[in-house]
Amino acid sequence: MREYKTQMEAAKKGIITEEMKIVAKKEYLEPEKIMELVKKGEVAIPCNINHKSISPEGIGTGLRTKINVNLGISGDCKDYEMEMKKVDMAIKYGAEAIMDLSNYGKTNKFRTELIEKSPAMIGTVPMYDAIGYLEKDLLDITAEDFLRVVRAHASEGVDFMTIHAGINRRAVEAFMREGREMNIVSRGGSLLFAWMMMTGNENPFYEFYDDVLEILREYDVTISLGDALRPGCIADSTDAGQISELIELGNLTKRAWEKDVQVMVEGPGHMAMNEIEANMKLQKRICHNAPFYVLGPLVTDIAPGYDHITSAIGGAIAAASGADFLCYVTPAEHLRLPDIDDVKEGIMASKIAAHAADIAKNVPHARDKDNEMAKARHKVEWEDMFKVAMDEEKARRYFESVPPEDRHTCSMCGKMCAVRTTNLILEGKKVEFCSEL
Ligand code: SF4
Repeated sequence: MREYKTQMEAAKKGIITEEMKIVAKKEYLEPEKIMELVKKGEVAIPCNINHKSISPEGIGTGLRTKINVNLGISGDCKDYEMEMKKVDMAIKYGAEAIMDLSNYGKTNKFRTELIEKSPAMIGTVPMYDAIGYLEKDLLDITAEDFLRVVRAHASEGVDFMTIHAGINRRAVEAFMREGREMNIVSRGGSLLFAWMMMTGNENPFYEFYDDVLEILREYDVTISLGDALRPGCIADSTDAGQISELIELGNLTKRAWEKDVQVMVEGPGHMAMNEIEANMKLQKRICHNAPFYVLGPLVTDIAPGYDHITSAIGGAIAAASGADFLCYVTPAEHLRLPDIDDVKEGIMASKIAAHAADIAKNVPHARDKDNEMAKARHKVEWEDMFKVAMDEEKARRYFESVPPEDRHTCSMCGKMCAVRTTNLILEGKKVEFCSEL
């Protein structure tokens, strides 16, 4: 029996948990440092007591930027086997988190299988599942019903839950007064907004926030405070609705910490590049340095089919400016449920953004593999290059598809390989191109 309910409670009691030790090892930091950061709320270790297959990861200040992959069964695509293949791919390419966003039928079969097999942390949005789980229409769902769904996910072993507790009456009022191009683009946020407007009630996750926290505390579920009013186009970013909700999230962060519940805060959305850094600073300031989980930001609205790129640009700037956790975006964003190739493209784009930011942030050992790659390129050692490549299979396939005559070059410049030429000269040798033609 452990002497604490949550990682945060343990940290406050001065206990270094097994999970903290694992995170410390992965991050090349001392366990005491991790404990201090968890105590302050600057690092969260989402790790449900019932998720036995997890390999714990920390999210927050000074740690590697983590990425999340969204998956799940939808009404238009109920292929369980395919969703499991996507899970395998997410794990293979190093996603630290998988969010099950299933919103069709009895979702717990997929979720329990996922929790059983996944070393990655698992997140959910209980609001998506409410209608299917309770088999009730939105208007008939009561506040107590929503809490039942939260308890069900928590007891199954979900590590973090997106709860849109910040879209309360005050935030709705600011959003309605200001008006927007894209209104609400958060799925959970729009459902809550609809429920609040139809019933005339306050947001149940806000009104009964203490009860939600009690459930999360029991299983050590990290609350991921959802941003229902995140901008859905660059014209709506940093507006009154977004900032009003952010102020509520700052408040809710403190209340969760008082109950030793670990917190992450979710952020935009769509946003022009020049606004990203200020938004990251604002979030960290208002939410007391809680880990920041960004959903993009997509830096332009006009590239459907390429939104893994628009979001990787925004994600890299966001993470370099303080965001700790990136939600991947696939080329299928805004268009359809991603297929397995889209999932891979999304993962790679997001991993690149996270890694580029870690280099800029001087995260311990972030440059190690880049330095190894430089050495391998210097020697034109292809096998060494493939080994450190983020996507070894693709790098190898491209190289082998047009093999060079001389393996100390590639088919781009052939004998005029700049690396080969310089190496030969520095070795005191001559370079003669005509004799080699
Ligand atoms: S041939 Fe050109 S592109 Fe290929 S390794 Fe040499 S310098 Fe680089």
